[in-house]
Amino acid sequence: MSDVLILDRIQTSLMRLRLPRMGEILESVMQAAQAGGKSYLSFLDDLLEEEVSRREQSRVETSLKISGLPFIKSIDEFDFAFQPKLDRQQVMSLFDLTFIGQKGNVVFLGPPGVGKTHLAVSLALKACQAGMSIYFTTMEALIGKLKKDHYAERKGRGRSYNKSALVIVDEVGYTPIDREECNLFFRFIANRYEKASTIITSNKAFSDWTELFHDPVIVTAFLDRLLHHSVVVNIKGNSYRLRGKVGKEGVEMSPS
Ligand code: ADP
Ligand code: MG
Repeated sequence: MSDVLILDRIQTSLMRLRLPRMGEILESVMQAAQAGGKSYLSFLDDLLEEEVSRREQSRVETSLKISGLPFIKSIDEFDFAFQPKLDRQQVMSLFDLTFIGQKGNVVFLGPPGVGKTHLAVSLALKACQAGMSIYFTTMEALIGKLKKDHYAERKGRGRSYNKSALVIVDEVGYTPIDREECNLFFRFIANRYEKASTIITSNKAFSDWTELFHDPVIVTAFLDRLLHHSVVVNIKGNSYRLRGKVGKEGVEMSPS
């Protein structure tokens, strides 16, 4: 059989096997292998590696697209020098992602603009790149979903916000919630307890959570589960959004 016919048949097989990237680069990789005197093994290796990395890249892109992340920023873009009171080592140690393997939680506390969402997003990005399922939601949106699900015929057991290995609930305590919403949120956290990881960000100190969740008994039970296996990162510092504005425009940054 002529080379042209063989190539044609390989292309058809690659299409049927859904290996499109291998089909695209087959000829160029083959020519490079011939020119470089590469072995069959190394030719096949080059071809497969390209397909695998393309697939991996598109998996990460798709997961990030549907994750709900408000922006995509990595930890490399986080300027620790701007937040000198933040324990850099404590934060960086989270990035080995062992807390996700251990089904632990992370809580970022601090005033607006100190980087809580940025840190949560960069952990989600790392987890996604490592092949873990991620889901990002604000507290407000989550409550909406939990309520909708609570009254739906089919409960949300299979939904991303329940089943993801890492769920981020951003802005806990920004908007007040009623008792029913509070119960739904508590049940959500209780369901994930020791099963999967949750990251929470809040501008409220734990001492203010009793007011937030109405009932001190619920708050105690809630914090008990949330904090049992957890890392709490308290960020005491200035807003990054207001950097450089102090003095110039008379905007006072909140003292730590
Ligand atoms: P928070 O959630 O605490 O209100 P964000 O994480 O949303 O704050 O941060 C506000 C903006 O400032 C974002 O664009 C974030 O990327 C950026 N930012 C915050 N802190 C830092 C920092 N230390 N280094 C670089 N960018 C930062
Ligand atoms: Mg935020």
